[in-house]
Amino acid sequence: MLRAEPIPCPAQGQVRVCIKACGICRTELHLRDGLLDLGRRDFTVGHEIAGVIDAVGDGVSASRIGERVVIYYYEGCGACRHCRVGDEQLCPAPKSQPGFTTDGGYAEYIVVRARNCVKVPDHLALHDIAPMGCAGSTAVHAGRMAGITAGSWVVIYGVGGVGNALLQYAHALGGRVIAIGLGAEKLALARELGAEIALDAAVETDIVGQVLDITGEGADVVFELVGTTETMRRSVMMLRRRGRLVLIGYTAETLQIHPVELIVREAILLASVGSTLQDLHEIVDLVARGIVTSVVDRTLPLDRFAEGLDALESQTPIGRIVLTM
Ligand SMILES: [Zn+2]
Ligand SMILES: [Zn+2]
Repeated sequence: MLRAEPIPCPAQGQVRVCIKACGICRTELHLRDGLLDLGRRDFTVGHEIAGVIDAVGDGVSASRIGERVVIYYYEGCGACRHCRVGDEQLCPAPKSQPGFTTDGGYAEYIVVRARNCVKVPDHLALHDIAPMGCAGSTAVHAGRMAGITAGSWVVIYGVGGVGNALLQYAHALGGRVIAIGLGAEKLALARELGAEIALDAAVETDIVGQVLDITGEGADVVFELVGTTETMRRSVMMLRRRGRLVLIGYTAETLQIHPVELIVREAILLASVGSTLQDLHEIVDLVARGIVTSVVDRTLPLDRFAEGLDALESQTPIGRIVLTM
């Protein structure tokens, strides 16, 4: 439900952002269903936030007022071993995490640490850049972790918000991308965005066999963005020896695989959560240079957020649904 809140004031080192757009991420469904429970329920969700700085706190240059920005949604403690190297997404005691534990972007205003605001070039629309705040930055983070090299076979298992950004990122690095998704329309888009091969899991009966045929030995990297027991099992089975599986998506289902499937492959199992501030800077730069395109299905006014969540749950949107204020 929508509720009235006082307009917040930025404290020392903070800015206030007048929110113009906020993407709807699958995480909101997980929060709504209770699958993701970080111990709090009394906050505003939304973490793919873009807007315009309209007030600054002490210690922040007034020249930033009017700056168009997308927001990095982690504010780590600044002191732990992870924060010290910029991995704020791993901080065990974050100061705030808009949209997860503190008020997020399904709102008109937010106050955040000034350096969490990444400048958006003038030629990019804020409703296009908003999804890069999570989907895009998560893709860069996972892609970097996987160590994609030119000529390697990269499977993108699931072509939603993160998948679409990740397949473009892998393609830009010279990876040979196999996209796996549901429905002709999503797969046509995947081909347009750079997938060499697109497999429709609704039609193909043997996805693993297909990937093994195409790649010869198996994929160098599989990004698992669906998170069902079946898709995770298939993802392992399509890896080449010493292949890397990167877990990103999840559902209520569990990972179930006989260890020998990992052992005989000397498989490398990785998992990726969120991103660093630097990853967000990188995805904004990639979008600004036209290397990655943000795919937006539609925009909806803020008060129709429930309709957006239902549409995402039904799996029908081609790209992100973005709320606009
Ligand atoms: Zn997200
Ligand atoms: Zn920390």
